[in-house]
Amino acid sequence: MSLESLRADIVEIGRRMYARGYTASNDGNISVRLDAERLLMTPKSVCKGFMTPDMMCVTDLSGKKISGDRDPSSEALMHLEVYRQRPDVNAVVHAHPPTATGFAVAGIPLDRAVLAEVLTTLGSIPLAEYATPSTAELPEAVRKYIKSHDGMLLANNGALTVGTDLFSAYYKMETIEHFAHISLVARMLGRENLISRDEVMRLQGLRDTYGIKAPAPICADPVDDPTCQTVQSPVGDGQRLIPNVIDGRDGRVRAGDEGEIRLTYRELSALIEDAIKSLR
Ligand SMILES: [Zn+2]
Repeated sequence: MSLESLRADIVEIGRRMYARGYTASNDGNISVRLDAERLLMTPKSVCKGFMTPDMMCVTDLSGKKISGDRDPSSEALMHLEVYRQRPDVNAVVHAHPPTATGFAVAGIPLDRAVLAEVLTTLGSIPLAEYATPSTAELPEAVRKYIKSHDGMLLANNGALTVGTDLFSAYYKMETIEHFAHISLVARMLGRENLISRDEVMRLQGLRDTYGIKAPAPICADPVDDPTCQTVQSPVGDGQRLIPNVIDGRDGRVRAGDEGEIRLTYRELSALIEDAIKSLR
């Protein structure tokens, strides 16, 4: 892609982030790899909703400005660390989408097996430890997870996503915020049914089918291992109430209609409680 179209893409992504409320004032930063030695990056102290293509800075891989009227982003060190750790990554986005950032402030990672799409694409979204923005502490905190994750929360700060191009990095930011919003609603409703471990492993198999290049596999057993992605999922059949049966006529998988129904202990208790109530 030409330098001009990359400048235009950064402007467009900045507009979308600002329009969606992912950044306020001058928050957030975006960068893209131009070649083996150079990056194109948003400048410091500009609102991402009102950028123009000429505002961008070209830097080398140590963050030194090569061209541009403005100085590079104050979070350049974090971006540089990502490019150093991930030769496969060509774009980095940082923003403060409010729901995901709420989780980052509450110290809650988005690592529960809840949505199939998130599991197949991002896997888990861990929480990098708190670090003072714009200092060398932040790249240090990011380093722990960046080799095995394409997106993470930054404690008391926001979220960071990476991709093979600008839009793939940006769309992961949308996915994280959407996932955070859904997780928040489910938790407010008082119930979050997790996808079972077996199903998580099955979904992981779909990555190959769809050609999704995840940076690391999901661990078969949750452990604090930075070389794989850890998701919280129950062992066994989880919330699947009705086991699948193979229809003898056409070989298709259908929910069993006269076979056994499996209930969790909690569901069984709720059913008994309801039955007792209706007897009164
Ligand atoms: Zn930030």
